[in-house]
Amino acid sequence: MPGAREHALFVRPIEAFGQLWPKVAALGRSQPIHLAVVGAGAAGLELVMAAAHALQGAGYPPGGRVTLVTGGPPAAQNYPAGVQRRVAQALRRLQITVLPDACVGMSAGEILLAGGARLACDAPLLAVGAQPPGWLAGSGLALDEAGFVAVNSFQQSTSHAHVFASGDVASRVDAPHPRSGVYAVRAGPPLLANLRSALQGQALLPYSPPGRTLNLISCGGRYAIAAWGSLHVEGHWVWHLKDRIDRGFVARYTAI
Ligand SMILES: Cc1cc2nc3c(=O)[nH]c(=O)nc-3n(C[C@H](O)[C@H](O)[C@H](O)COP(=O)(O)OP(=O)(O)OC[C@H]3O[C@@H](n4cnc5c(N)ncnc54)[C@H](O)[C@@H]3O)c2cc1C
Repeated sequence: MPGAREHALFVRPIEAFGQLWPKVAALGRSQPIHLAVVGAGAAGLELVMAAAHALQGAGYPPGGRVTLVTGGPPAAQNYPAGVQRRVAQALRRLQITVLPDACVGMSAGEILLAGGARLACDAPLLAVGAQPPGWLAGSGLALDEAGFVAVNSFQQSTSHAHVFASGDVASRVDAPHPRSGVYAVRAGPPLLANLRSALQGQALLPYSPPGRTLNLISCGGRYAIAAWGSLHVEGHWVWHLKDRIDRGFVARYTAI
């Protein structure tokens, strides 16, 4: 996307974004700002609703605006229609403008849309999905068609037996699944076990990723939407559930 490197805030790597966000928040407290989030998957949605909730909170001057650029399809396009409706309502409640258009370029202070329009904004935030690191292309490792590390049921590179990968950077060629924290976290312990086995010359164990996962989308204001297959609910209690699960994951994996 032309201009994106110079003018946008990339949500990934999250550590870099974590350092930049306080500067955006400080700007938003000093004057009304216009934020635009590009990407309407789970990450973009959580981010745009958290940002809108923050800008409407104490300490921020009135007049701030938040826009979501979806890429063309409706927000939450990978979720069932019922979840999309809940997401659309949550976006409306927060007065987020939704543009079903694709971002095709950026320059200082504006986003260029595929339809030809230019959207003025102080801070474009890019949440367009996980991208493989550029250096993988020259690594010699077998990659999938999108450039992620192709791994087998042992989370082992299909081309280099001494290389293992899991999480967003990897693609299970035998059992494709979406890229999300839930899949990344669950693959961690099997990956560790297989790394240990490989070092000790023992047999590797296959790992089966779950067929479906509970998706919990934070909507700002300690409110969230839950989706499990075709079932979906929302409420403050969903946010508390997500908070408990996330904190539990972190505590569990910190202890390993
Ligand atoms: C705003 C947002 C909200 C999200 N919400 C959810 C959610 O609610 N539920 C969910 O399941 N998923 C969610 N996700 C997705 C989830 O965060 C990712 O799927 C998950 O973090 C992937 O884990 P990972 O360890 O593979 O990669 P990451 O968490 O991206 O970690 C990669 C790590 O590798 C490091 N690294 C990168 N390059 C190198 C290098 N060359 N050498 C050494 N280290 C390197 C990075 O610094 C980083 O520490 C969200 C993502 C975003 C951005």
